[in-house]
Amino acid sequence: MLMLAVFHLFFLLVTQASPLDQVLKYIDDHQDDYVKHLKEWVSIQSESGDPLKRDKVIEMVHIAGKAIESLGGSVELTDLGTEELPDGKMIPLPPVVLGELGTDPNKTTVCIYGHIDVQPARIEDGWATDPYVLTERNGKLYGRGASDDKGPVLAWLHAIEAVQALKQELPVNLKFIFEAMEESGSKGLEKILSEKNATYFSNVDYIVISDSGWLSSNPALTYGTRGLCYFLVEVQCAKQDLHSGLYGGVVHEAMTDLIALLDSLVNSTGHILIPDIDEDVVPLTNEEHLLYKTIEFNPEGFKDNIGATRLRHETKEDLLLHRWRFPSLSIHGIEGAFSGPGAKTVIPAKVIGKFSIRLVPDMDPNKVNRQVATYLSQVFAERRSPNKLRITLNNGSKAWVADVTDKQYVAGRRAISRVFGVEAELIRGGGTIPIVRMFQQTMQKSVMMLPIGGAGDAIHSQDESISRDNYINGTKLLAAYLAEISQL
Ligand code: MN
Ligand code: MN
Repeated sequence: MLMLAVFHLFFLLVTQASPLDQVLKYIDDHQDDYVKHLKEWVSIQSESGDPLKRDKVIEMVHIAGKAIESLGGSVELTDLGTEELPDGKMIPLPPVVLGELGTDPNKTTVCIYGHIDVQPARIEDGWATDPYVLTERNGKLYGRGASDDKGPVLAWLHAIEAVQALKQELPVNLKFIFEAMEESGSKGLEKILSEKNATYFSNVDYIVISDSGWLSSNPALTYGTRGLCYFLVEVQCAKQDLHSGLYGGVVHEAMTDLIALLDSLVNSTGHILIPDIDEDVVPLTNEEHLLYKTIEFNPEGFKDNIGATRLRHETKEDLLLHRWRFPSLSIHGIEGAFSGPGAKTVIPAKVIGKFSIRLVPDMDPNKVNRQVATYLSQVFAERRSPNKLRITLNNGSKAWVADVTDKQYVAGRRAISRVFGVEAELIRGGGTIPIVRMFQQTMQKSVMMLPIGGAGDAIHSQDESISRDNYINGTKLLAAYLAEISQL
């Protein structure tokens, strides 16, 4: 009995002394420093969408570069040239931070992507506290960029710092790519990736991105996002707007045509009426369907949250499948239509309908574009309208999906169960994150999204936050991931 107890104690001592456990403890012990560091980063108003704040964005780039250097990494700030504003003025684009830490040919090389620019935020928008002063309330850290994406970028840096502070050897080589134009369309990033793919990025084995959130209170890995085709449908009936008292009854009205066109796209059950639009959608396998069963998601809560009376689907699986796994079509607006208060009796001369289709694997934007154009032209022809019709694809991007049996996902799952003691939820995103696909396509390497943000972080919104738990345990998760991936 005593022997057993002694053995047990010995066993505990040995396991507690494991290098990763030391790192996790170190992270816990230093959490106040990490919060302070986030406060410094949040105070820089690096809004990439506001030309007047470009100097702040560039300041943020330099701060991030210095942070990598202080870990002993080498940093190159890659110039992206200039950006032309609508008034013709030219301003500099913020450089991309490329960092490198470790070049051991025997180690796996992980490339970490993150962004250090933020969405705009003003206290007048309805923030409870100054968006640029990180403020802790009830376990949450409020501030612009706290979750999207300064918190996660710092979590990576702190995870590495913790390993170094304990004089441990970094388990992997690291490449960093931190951009500062993500919230403004990642201007210039694709060019850098393809230019440096054969050189700087050539030894990268895995790309990991922490720039999204969990679906529930359970830690998650994101393995897919939908793509997007955004269309403009323009109908013109006259050279200027007309008075309905004078011309109503005699003109083929542009708006009537447009409403008919938009109404022909989707039926009341959400089924897209464009012929064969889903012919390339990868069939759902039983295995894949099973993944949906274990995900924690409350349909009632989801419905109540948005204030809808009834949704198109009732079960958890159906709702998630239709959010992530099947295409959907949404009508967004009509430009040129009268939309102010009052009762203006106008016949708009030209209206532009806007709708989009969320794409899933293996739908191709070019093919979808042809299908939409052919179908709408046919619907329009059947109306025998003399008006002018123009259909344009505003932008098209393919969906992204990763192989969840890939080593990187194994490492992510192990890291989650190690830090949180639960199984990872494997989730997808219904939205579109073009950079993920950009990375996968350019580098042809495995990409994983390893979020540390919570489900209710209100990114892009008022009172954005990250909980202290997510921030600190997220830092541990990233450290654990680096340890796990090095062993696969
Ligand atoms: Mn982001
Ligand atoms: Mn964002």
